[in-house]
Amino acid sequence: MAYFRRRGCTCWKSKCKCDAEKKSECTCGASEIKIKKCTCGAKWSFSLDAGVNPKNGKRKQKTVSGFNTRDEAEKAATILEYELLSKTFIADIQHP
Ligand SMILES: [Zn+2]
Ligand SMILES: [Zn+2]
Repeated sequence: MAYFRRRGCTCWKSKCKCDAEKKSECTCGASEIKIKKCTCGAKWSFSLDAGVNPKNGKRKQKTVSGFNTRDEAEKAATILEYELLSKTFIADIQHP
Protein backbone atom coordinates (compact mmCIF):
# COMPACT_ATOMS: atom_id res chain seq x y z
CA MET A 1 0.00 0.00 0.00
CA ALA A 2 1.44 3.34 -1.06
CA TYR A 3 0.82 6.55 0.80
CA PHE A 4 0.58 9.76 -1.23
CA ARG A 5 1.13 13.32 -0.15
CA ARG A 6 2.10 16.68 -1.50
CA ARG A 7 5.34 17.85 -0.02
CA GLY A 8 6.26 21.39 0.89
CA CYS A 9 2.99 23.04 -0.11
CA THR A 10 3.06 26.67 0.97
CA CYS A 11 -0.43 27.66 -0.21
CA TRP A 12 -1.52 28.14 3.42
CA LYS A 13 0.89 31.09 3.70
CA SER A 14 -1.32 33.26 1.48
CA LYS A 15 -4.08 32.84 4.08
CA CYS A 16 -1.86 33.24 7.12
CA LYS A 17 -2.45 36.34 9.20
CA CYS A 18 0.33 35.82 11.74
CA ASP A 19 3.25 35.88 9.27
CA ALA A 20 4.52 32.44 10.29
CA GLU A 21 7.50 31.00 8.43
CA LYS A 22 6.67 27.37 9.17
CA LYS A 23 3.38 25.54 9.62
CA SER A 24 4.30 24.72 13.21
CA GLU A 25 4.72 28.44 13.97
CA CYS A 26 1.33 29.46 12.61
CA THR A 27 -1.13 30.43 15.34
CA CYS A 28 -3.96 31.89 13.22
CA GLY A 29 -5.20 28.51 11.98
CA ALA A 30 -4.24 29.05 8.33
CA SER A 31 -2.00 25.96 8.37
CA GLU A 32 -5.06 23.83 9.26
CA ILE A 33 -7.05 24.89 6.19
CA LYS A 34 -7.38 22.15 3.59
CA ILE A 35 -6.15 23.41 0.22
CA LYS A 36 -8.33 22.10 -2.59
CA LYS A 37 -6.23 23.28 -5.48
CA CYS A 38 -2.53 23.82 -4.92
CA THR A 39 -1.15 26.85 -6.73
CA CYS A 40 2.40 26.98 -5.32
CA GLY A 41 3.68 24.15 -7.53
CA ALA A 42 4.51 21.73 -4.69
CA LYS A 43 5.49 18.27 -5.90
CA TRP A 44 3.77 14.99 -5.08
CA SER A 45 5.57 12.14 -3.39
CA PHE A 46 4.72 8.66 -2.18
CA SER A 47 5.99 6.23 0.40
CA LEU A 48 5.53 2.54 0.25
CA ASP A 49 6.30 -0.50 2.28
CA ALA A 50 9.42 -2.17 0.87
CA GLY A 51 9.30 -5.30 3.02
CA VAL A 52 11.31 -6.23 6.08
CA ASN A 53 15.01 -5.65 6.56
CA PRO A 54 16.42 -9.12 7.29
CA LYS A 55 19.21 -7.64 9.44
CA ASN A 56 17.09 -5.96 12.09
CA GLY A 57 13.55 -7.15 11.34
CA LYS A 58 12.31 -3.60 10.87
CA ARG A 59 9.97 -2.61 8.07
CA LYS A 60 11.58 -0.63 5.28
CA GLN A 61 9.94 2.43 3.77
CA LYS A 62 10.73 3.69 0.31
CA THR A 63 9.94 7.32 -0.54
CA VAL A 64 9.98 8.78 -4.03
CA SER A 65 9.18 12.43 -4.73
CA GLY A 66 9.11 14.98 -7.54
CA PHE A 67 5.83 14.20 -9.34
CA ASN A 68 3.77 17.02 -10.78
CA THR A 69 0.43 15.30 -10.23
CA ARG A 70 -1.00 12.65 -7.96
CA ASP A 71 -1.76 10.62 -11.06
CA GLU A 72 1.94 10.49 -12.01
CA ALA A 73 2.87 9.47 -8.49
CA GLU A 74 0.22 6.71 -8.49
CA LYS A 75 1.50 5.26 -11.76
CA ALA A 76 5.10 5.23 -10.52
CA ALA A 77 3.99 3.63 -7.25
CA THR A 78 2.18 0.84 -9.09
CA ILE A 79 5.30 0.03 -11.14
CA LEU A 80 7.57 0.14 -8.09
CA GLU A 81 5.20 -2.06 -6.05
CA TYR A 82 5.22 -4.61 -8.84
CA GLU A 83 9.03 -4.56 -9.02
CA LEU A 84 9.36 -5.01 -5.28
CA LEU A 85 6.90 -7.91 -5.33
CA SER A 86 8.73 -9.71 -8.13
CA LYS A 87 12.08 -9.20 -6.37
CA THR A 88 10.71 -10.72 -3.18
CA PHE A 89 9.35 -13.61 -5.17
CA ILE A 90 12.70 -14.29 -6.85
CA ALA A 91 14.52 -14.01 -3.52
CA ASP A 92 12.16 -16.62 -2.06
CA ILE A 93 13.01 -19.09 -4.81
CA GLN A 94 16.76 -18.53 -4.46
CA HIS A 95 16.71 -19.01 -0.70
CA PRO A 96 14.23 -21.72 0.21
ZN1 LIG B 1 0.49 24.53 -2.63
ZN1 LIG C 1 -0.84 32.06 10.69
